Amino acid sequence: MPNAFFIDASRCTACRGCQVACKEWHGLPAVNTKQRGSHQNPPDLNPFNYKVVRFNEHLKDNDRNQVVWNFFPDQCRHCIEAPCKYIADDYLEGAIVQDQGTGAIIYTDLTRQLSQSVYEEIRDSCPYDIPRRNSATGAIVKCDMCHGRVRNGLLPMCVATCPTGTMNFGDREEMLKLAHERLDVVKKEFPNAQLVDEDSVNVIYLITDDPQYYHDYVIGDARPVPGPMTRKEFFAKLAAPLRAATSKV
Ligand code: SF4
Ligand code: SF4
Ligand code: SF4
Repeated sequence: MPNAFFIDASRCTACRGCQVACKEWHGLPAVNTKQRGSHQNPPDLNPFNYKVVRFNEHLKDNDRNQVVWNFFPDQCRHCIEAPCKYIADDYLEGAIVQDQGTGAIIYTDLTRQLSQSVYEEIRDSCPYDIPRRNSATGAIVKCDMCHGRVRNGLLPMCVATCPTGTMNFGDREEMLKLAHERLDVVKKEFPNAQLVDEDSVNVIYLITDDPQYYHDYVIGDARPVPGPMTRKEFFAKLAAPLRAATSKV
């Protein structure tokens, strides 16, 4: 049974405990940033931030000019059929692997051997714009589901740290059940609430507002692909021959 996260953004206070805990557990250094008129810091994912809590504010669509503040603890979605892995497999088997027990998509040290253009292809294939390259080591990096902790019966660091119940982790079926229970509750106050891409990822977000009011890459089909197909259809098609070839080996 694969594992999954349920990230209930309706509960997130943007304390950034998860972001800092992730850095600490992985021994990632601080990054110099500037004040940009937002509480979000750093401005985006980078090779030293596998998780970033995104802040987005907008005016509510009513005549009272109410400000709505949306928080989104962004990380790799550990896609069930991961486009990044299918691309990497085409160049170097084993650079990106899927852990069969947890379902985690893991970037290995072999990613250092991939060229810059392959890195760009991998990043471009990700519907959620997650992978980043460490220019000093050449490693392509992202959230690893804290699979070392999980294998030893511990929760991922960001889940263990979150004080509000936003971050949840467990069996996929259990997380889906919890997600639907919370959606039923949250919808009473926020009719636009939805679960994001629940059938295709192992990191399931509950958002209360239109996805455009969180971040450009909240929904998997947000990035354009050539032709009339959706992004999901495009990568499913792309991956099919690769899967067939792999299964023959
Ligand atoms: S979210 Fe992006 S980086 Fe993560 S598994 Fe899916 S395609 Fe790969
Ligand atoms: S699961 Fe681990 S690596 Fe992924 S965001 Fe949480 S703390 Fe970071
Ligand atoms: S620790 Fe929890 S409440 Fe704090 S920013 Fe992260 S997800 Fe939100």
